[in-house]
Amino acid sequence: MLSRPDLGVPPHLGYTASALDRAADRRQDPAAVAALEADPRARIHLLGGELVVLRKSAAASEATDDPAFTFAEAAALAPWRERVFLGLRDGAPRFAAGIDKELAEALKARGDLLVTDLRAIATGGLVAPEYLPPLAEAKAVLGWHARHRFCPNCGTPTRVVQGGWRRDCPSCKAEHFPRTDPVVIMLAISGERCVLGRSPRFAPTMWSALAGFAEPGETIEEAVRREVLEEAGIRCGKVTYAMSQPWPFPSSLMIGCHAEALSETIVIDRSEIEDARWFSRDELALMLGRRHPDGLTTPPPVAIAHHLIRSFVEDGCQVLE
Ligand SMILES: [Zn+2]
Repeated sequence: MLSRPDLGVPPHLGYTASALDRAADRRQDPAAVAALEADPRARIHLLGGELVVLRKSAAASEATDDPAFTFAEAAALAPWRERVFLGLRDGAPRFAAGIDKELAEALKARGDLLVTDLRAIATGGLVAPEYLPPLAEAKAVLGWHARHRFCPNCGTPTRVVQGGWRRDCPSCKAEHFPRTDPVVIMLAISGERCVLGRSPRFAPTMWSALAGFAEPGETIEEAVRREVLEEAGIRCGKVTYAMSQPWPFPSSLMIGCHAEALSETIVIDRSEIEDARWFSRDELALMLGRRHPDGLTTPPPVAIAHHLIRSFVEDGCQVLE
């Protein structure tokens, strides 16, 4: 591949470019949070475990379902545990509330609602794109609440404060904040080729970038080199940052990188991945365009791996500069 291929307008990376102003200063003051809740423009998303509650579109003319309820509508559907102030959309307060998984499951029986998981919503385009970032924000922070009801320091039940952005321990006075877990996801590149791998969880034809959690005490670059060496046996040198993406399954931040491969022999760690091999830019271009002769595919545009592969197909080794 000698010239830069024209892949058209870049697709949107899922869960990014939120239209919400988080207005974090409002979280500090309980009276300000109460005023936001009382605002008639306030809307709330309901989530239970992996599930999100959507109102089905009423008319065939409406292409997408609606995840935003008034407080009265939401209260009539299920009692909520924690409530989080997500931010302001054109001045209108947006909240999210966590309900029990079993109650969310039970709402599937209602004909006017669609209750499904966020991956299905994102890949199926079930809601307007502007709703994906706040739903990702809601899922990550509500999932943190569900796993942190007790103080990890002393075991006492903790209290939700700061508009849902902190839990305080009344016993040992520890303050607990929502966590984001960094994951490195990368392409190891040698000339016109890069390495993709397959997880046993993938659809049979799909190949994606290698990925893994950054560990305590590690830089992003060190995590990239360690993961590629562990999973595929390839040593890497220079690492360049490309882009990042919130990935609320349950609370990751995907850090997308390209890495210069210093060796070419692949040694697969079968406990981590099912397979790995080199792919040329030409083959990757066929996969992105769903034109591969063996039907091989990349992840869809909602995932950061798609964008890492696409930028390598477009720009080749320049992604390492
Ligand atoms: Zn405590």
